[in-house]
Amino acid sequence: MSEKVKCLIVGSGPAGYTAAIYAARANLKPVMYEGLQPGGQLTTTTEIDNFPGYPEGITGPAMMEDLRKQAERFGTDVRFGIITSADLSKKPFKLIADESHEIETEVLIIATGATAKYLGLESEEKFRGKGVSACATCDGFFYKGQDVAVVGGGDTAAEEATYLAGLCNKVYLIVRRDELRASKAMQERVFNTPNIEILWKHQTKEIVGDDMGVTGAKLVNDKGEIKEIKITGFFLAIGHHPNSDIFRDYLKTDETGYIITEKGSSRTNIPGVFACGDVQDKIYRQAITAAGSGCIAAIDAERFIGE
Ligand code: NDP
Repeated sequence: MSEKVKCLIVGSGPAGYTAAIYAARANLKPVMYEGLQPGGQLTTTTEIDNFPGYPEGITGPAMMEDLRKQAERFGTDVRFGIITSADLSKKPFKLIADESHEIETEVLIIATGATAKYLGLESEEKFRGKGVSACATCDGFFYKGQDVAVVGGGDTAAEEATYLAGLCNKVYLIVRRDELRASKAMQERVFNTPNIEILWKHQTKEIVGDDMGVTGAKLVNDKGEIKEIKITGFFLAIGHHPNSDIFRDYLKTDETGYIITEKGSSRTNIPGVFACGDVQDKIYRQAITAAGSGCIAAIDAERFIGE
């Protein structure tokens, strides 16, 4: 026997929780599956200073805890677990939680986020949150006046390097090839920023540091020459992986897997299925934009049920 629900929300970052708050208040009795990382990507950051309403800042885990409590206050059934498969071929949509529990839902809100790609170095893991970050907009401020490095050559790397250049003393941009993948306009911005030094054809071998955090990085170029740079922040910008895999048989995505939503809404190509947050946004990726899109998804879902 499958469980029948009105509104199922998958994912528990700012998008999922905001969708839950709105859906619960609209009496959609939402059930939320939190996913592998309850609270989402923000639980891996330290201080959040750019979310309106927290004049003194707040840590990522504390903010997510607040959002969860707020969602629960209005009756969201928040469950620890993951959705392991989905059949969106007909209504009600059928999803399987934790490999065995079948759920049928009238509307589905996908807020599964995206996962930042890391290089896979042991030292990167060791200093995560202590100098290693995958979000310059979130963490750059802590490196004001210091020397930092950004890895990557796409639009994200170009954008993050120029953002950091406005705050930091010096930014090394570590690029594995001899050209950037970023758009020409973004490349120009990088080339015209005097405190960005591009290290072409370099790869990171190791991030070095002490108890206080990152102090440098060991790089190797295409000739095998080793170079050590002194930095206190190491920012990854080598892409994200949108967590849309289990929905891809049904939903339209772009070539990298981001779910395509109708402009100005959270509607996907399947009526009744809505997407919000980073799983459908590769450009802004902020807690506040994710939260806003979660609100949109809940309102879209409520209207869909009402129609
Ligand atoms: P991309 O996939 O476009 O770029 C990833 C970059 O990281 C590439 O330069 C790649 O190198 C490099 N890279 C990947 N793996 C490694 C590795 N192991 N070691 C070193 N370097 C590595 O990702 P982005 O996040 O930059 O962008 C994703 C999408 O979002 C793009 O379509 C982009 O245009 C878009 N975007 C748009 C923005 C805007 O319009 N303002 C802002 C941000 C993103 P290589 O080139 O050699 O493969």
